[in-house]
Amino acid sequence: MSRIFINYRRQDTEAYVDRLYEHLAQHFKPEDIFMDVDSIKPGADFVQTLEDAVAGCDVFIAMIGPQWLAVTDHDGSRRLDQWDDFVRIEIASALKQSKLVIPVLVGQAKMPAPTDLPDDLKMLARRNAIALSRQGFAHDVKKLAETIKESVPSHPSFKPQAASETVQRKEAALKVVRDDLVNATTSPLYQFRIDNRLFPVMGEGNADANILFIGEAPGKTETETGRPFCGPSGDVLDEMLRGINLKREDVFITNILLDRPPEQREPTPEELAFYTPFMDRIVDIIQPAVIAPLGRYAMNYMLKKLDLPEKGGTITQLHGKLIKTKIHYGEIHVIPLYHPAVALHKPSEKEKLRKDFEKLKLFI
Ligand code: URA
Repeated sequence: MSRIFINYRRQDTEAYVDRLYEHLAQHFKPEDIFMDVDSIKPGADFVQTLEDAVAGCDVFIAMIGPQWLAVTDHDGSRRLDQWDDFVRIEIASALKQSKLVIPVLVGQAKMPAPTDLPDDLKMLARRNAIALSRQGFAHDVKKLAETIKESVPSHPSFKPQAASETVQRKEAALKVVRDDLVNATTSPLYQFRIDNRLFPVMGEGNADANILFIGEAPGKTETETGRPFCGPSGDVLDEMLRGINLKREDVFITNILLDRPPEQREPTPEELAFYTPFMDRIVDIIQPAVIAPLGRYAMNYMLKKLDLPEKGGTITQLHGKLIKTKIHYGEIHVIPLYHPAVALHKPSEKEKLRKDFEKLKLFI
């Protein structure tokens, strides 16, 4: 059954409705988002059909654009005033059924006043609206999705707890992983860490992030501070994040190895075998919608683990490719990216990295 109903008038919000649908589909199952009542059978009571469709939803989004109040028929009469106007029937029905009705303003539209509305829509004016700006569209839709998830806790496709509770639960689970890591005395890198008074580097960021970055291994600065990517590669990563209006707090950043190998050498098979189960636990806790391996080690591991047809491909072939797949908690995208250090050794590659990061905008 469809759970989010998008009510819109094509003449008013055509430029926005498909975009809203695509962005909402990043947060909910596409089959739970319902836009058009497209099969009203000949002879059916169309008012009843529209009311039934509204009855099947948990959340009703009323899209309001700049022309919403004014759109008229060819004879000049206002559509909203007509008894058989679909937009009006659907909104009136959602209000009558006490649905969660969220007015969504686009194109700098303003909320209508009760005096501008027919009687059965007057209550709409009292519903708090959310505005979607052209530049911050993805961010604004994310806020809308969070509001919906918090408001409709009973639906199985919605996260059952308020966002802050989810974050707390995930943070607590990450702390357990961190404690296990600190005490992992059998790790092939444990003695090196202790002898050099270094920290393990679990990763940092938003425990409920949509996007998870996985690098290779922490370096000297990282293990002296316990934070991932805080040396020169970290500067490149920060620059790339800034380029798509993200901050570290919006994402989660970890590595495939969580301790530093001596002399900055590449990870050994033994080290990978030891640390990847920790990394898997981090993925399972955060449950990101997008996993972005940075460099070939993280990429090879993820492609193999998920048994993707791309496994065996090189980072040169696969960087920037959006690979859709399923993991035990749902659908995800994997997007292999060059390791930020590449831009340090080969500045000409920075532009490729920047372009690949642009693809992440789809998920923010
Ligand atoms: N390189 C990585 O892969 N990870 C870090 O944390 C730092 C540099």
